[in-house]
Amino acid sequence: MKIGILAVQGDFEAHAAILHQLGVDTVEVRTPAGLEGCNGLILPGGESTTQLQFLQEEGLAEKIQQFARRGGAIFGTCAGAILLANEVRNPKQDSLKLLDMTVLRNGYGRQVASDVVSGPSKLKKEPLEMVFIRGPIIEHAGPDVEVLAEYGGKPALVQHGHIMAATFHPELTDDTTVHQHFLSLAANGTSPATGSAKSK
Ligand code: GLN
Repeated sequence: MKIGILAVQGDFEAHAAILHQLGVDTVEVRTPAGLEGCNGLILPGGESTTQLQFLQEEGLAEKIQQFARRGGAIFGTCAGAILLANEVRNPKQDSLKLLDMTVLRNGYGRQVASDVVSGPSKLKKEPLEMVFIRGPIIEHAGPDVEVLAEYGGKPALVQHGHIMAATFHPELTDDTTVHQHFLSLAANGTSPATGSAKSK
């Protein structure tokens, strides 16, 4: 099992640290070739406009869409969730369009940088700690999108098949629940490098 982490900008190192803690190999992805052999890909938080521009310039946007079509699991957190959304508002922005949802950038406000809350989720009995940092609001999620956790009456953690998005930062807590759930999706997928069943 190998997980790629988009390492253009943002907090990609925190995701790597959690995955290493779980005994999973990671690779920093900056080129289309970097995705080869990965079972899953994490799109970290940061600045979605900068990340999107990089993805489009380097040919990575198209490569990530292919990766998803071939069954590669993808998890976008915060800016990464914005990249995955079918529709982005405030302001309108292009995206990878891999998840049937509409997001409103900086939906919880720009001034208050962060908020740490605990709330129920479908992933475990205990409340899930959620760290919000200028996150987007998921205004609308399609009927096939499962809501795994909510915050303020809006979806905060969603999943459709092997694509998952969080408007918060699970990589900034000690709790590995959300990453473990993502790893279970990645383990069920296929290796995009060969299109064959994954090796481990
Ligand atoms: N506000 C950022 C954006 O719109 C996302 C913030 C984050 O990833 N923590 O791209």
